[in-house]
Amino acid sequence: MYIVQVASECAPVIKAGGLGDVVYGLSRELETQGHCVEVILPKYDCMRYDHIWGLHEAYCDLIVPWYGTDIRCDVLCGWVHGQLCFFIEPKSWEMFFNRGCYYGCDDDPMRFAFFSKAAMEFLLRSNKRPDVIHCHDWQTGLIPVMLFEIYQYNGMEFQRVLYTIHNFKHQGFGGTEILQATGLNRPEHYFQPHRLRDNFNPFAINFMKGGITYANHVNTVSPYHAWEAQHTDQGFGLGHTLHANQHKFSGILNGIDYDVWNPEVDPYIPHHYSLTTFEDKALNQKELRDRLLLRQSDRPLVAFIGRLDDQKGVHLVHHAIYYALSRQAQFVLLGSATEKSINDWFWHEKLYLNDNPDVHLELGFNEELAHLIYAGADMIVVPSNFEPCGLTQMIGLRYGTVPIVRGVGGLVNTVFDWDYDTLHGPEERNGFVFFQQDTVALESAMNRAFDIWTQQPALFRRLAQQGMAYDFSWNHPGEEYIDLYEYIRHK
Ligand code: ADP
Repeated sequence: MYIVQVASECAPVIKAGGLGDVVYGLSRELETQGHCVEVILPKYDCMRYDHIWGLHEAYCDLIVPWYGTDIRCDVLCGWVHGQLCFFIEPKSWEMFFNRGCYYGCDDDPMRFAFFSKAAMEFLLRSNKRPDVIHCHDWQTGLIPVMLFEIYQYNGMEFQRVLYTIHNFKHQGFGGTEILQATGLNRPEHYFQPHRLRDNFNPFAINFMKGGITYANHVNTVSPYHAWEAQHTDQGFGLGHTLHANQHKFSGILNGIDYDVWNPEVDPYIPHHYSLTTFEDKALNQKELRDRLLLRQSDRPLVAFIGRLDDQKGVHLVHHAIYYALSRQAQFVLLGSATEKSINDWFWHEKLYLNDNPDVHLELGFNEELAHLIYAGADMIVVPSNFEPCGLTQMIGLRYGTVPIVRGVGGLVNTVFDWDYDTLHGPEERNGFVFFQQDTVALESAMNRAFDIWTQQPALFRRLAQQGMAYDFSWNHPGEEYIDLYEYIRHK
């Protein structure tokens, strides 16, 4: 099969979170299983150019219709660690992707509506006719709409589209100007409750709702979150839309790329280890402590890695730091906040804790350090309010770092509580789970982990090794995606 992924991220060249990991990891797996994959991305000024090989012009002067006139684009092409990627570079005064950031601009809906339009024009004009266009999240929600409202009448009648939702919280909203700009026009057609009209604001179109309505199939990134999105408030207002489209909605658990996340060969960790040489993990812990100026001592080291925002349960993350310290444990946090109030808050904490030899807060995005933390920590805490899949707990498991998680979304599908899980036998359990959103619940799960770490080290080690033995690679989810592509192709 020939698959084109259209997305706003692809790790490691463009990565703000899990979306980037998924686009890269899935693409590599599909190629390993014998399929042809290409990825279309925006050409941001701030992406990691050092991860692209052989960047060259692939299509010069692509004319993208926009607001009744047009914007010219160049399309560049290069290899991101073996994956062929196309980068769209508009030549216009709006500087859509030259803003020094991936997201967070006031005109984000317009920027990504343009990207979606340009991606479709690129496919059309370069005569690429993939079997499946696989698009991701709100940024590309208009692609299924444009495919079936415009491009299928221009020579793309055999293309099918899969729409994957990684986060329901960000849906992409706009007004009639988006319809005019993209050439969809006809507001009276799209501002209908069964098309793009937002379920709550009658004056807005909702990109994600458009993606759900028009795609041949829609999935989110874990089976449990697929249920939550339909039946709880975690669909963020799209529950009804999902319900109406339930015949074409499902959940597929993400994988992690075992070439990137592998303690046996990871180039960013000084001491490689595996299930059988597990004791060498301690050497990485020593290295991590040295690097972050933490004192070397015999106490558990807890980590948090992730975006610092409401989704990730920042108040519980904050509490976990102080609770760990009160229990004579150490804590390392690697996180970045886009919201100013949260950023200021954690900077304040960082300065306050600066001289404490048992804690380090690293504020910013640092891929290399993340690897060392996964390898060096004993436990990783993931107290999310909601979590469509979550990769940090899976990466933690791979590195023998025991997860302490809140039982939501994909965390339910991947972490099985040592004491209380009823569906998995003792030899299959791999972490600690709590359910309530309060500090008492978090403390009780951390307590159970600390108690085992201090009183039964052999048992703790067994738990960590049981986690390492799990297979959360792309192998299995890759097959599920291929089945889904085949299904929508022949439906
Ligand atoms: P998200 O909701 O952000 O997509 P996931 O758990 O699905 O969360 O994926 C997070 C990915 O981003 C993981 O690969 C994690 O290691 C990485 N990550 C998150 N924050 C940082 C950071 N500050 N520095 C380095 N890597 C980070």
